[in-house]
Amino acid sequence: MSDQALREKVIQISRLMLSMGLTVGTSGNVSARCEDGASFLITPSGMDYEAVIPDDIVKVSVAAGERTGRRVPSIETGLHREIYLARRDVGAIVHVHSPLAAGLAVARKPLPVIADMCALAFGGQVEVAEYATSGSPELAVNVVEALGSRNAVLMANHGSLGVGSDLDQALFICDLLEKMCLTYYCAALAGGAVPITNEAISILKSGVGRTYGQPGAAKGECLP
Ligand code: 13P
Ligand code: ZN
Repeated sequence: MSDQALREKVIQISRLMLSMGLTVGTSGNVSARCEDGASFLITPSGMDYEAVIPDDIVKVSVAAGERTGRRVPSIETGLHREIYLARRDVGAIVHVHSPLAAGLAVARKPLPVIADMCALAFGGQVEVAEYATSGSPELAVNVVEALGSRNAVLMANHGSLGVGSDLDQALFICDLLEKMCLTYYCAALAGGAVPITNEAISILKSGVGRTYGQPGAAKGECLP
């Protein structure tokens, strides 16, 4: 995808994040790795998502962190950059302040593998990154560590973050995390969640997790 098309896609996803109730006001941020892999595009800091235009999106080099654009980029640019440096497989990142996931993050409790989709989409238990100030290098270190090789992470007393091969996938992860947190709270009301065993997770990943959907179709949002 060209840089221009990707700028428009970043804006589209940031507006969806807002309209889906995954964040409020100007909080949260969205980025995507450019086609060349050497740079990423990220939302500007503190701007009304409805007012952002493609020229407001800032380009950042992954290796050096050099920024190109007329706007100040998200205060979490360093965090996004550290994830792109640590995870070659990540093509896009969405950071949200969705209330149900943030509730777990405030309680500093991980989300166990409570459903098949948690294993397949998140890649395991969603851990809580230790608290650090928004926008700080410490937060970036903590989030990268807690994310590991998985696709979602909770950020203590802050929010959550999803990664994916592309922007649709990263947004899907944030949405699914929010819904799985609701399921987790419902289970607590019903007597307590019973997580899936490691053995069941292995069977799942090698079985339906590989074959689900139409033959030849990209595995993504359509998980059982
Ligand atoms: P930005 O508007 O600078 O992206 O900050 C929002 C946010 O959520 C910080 O964690
Ligand atoms: Zn935030």
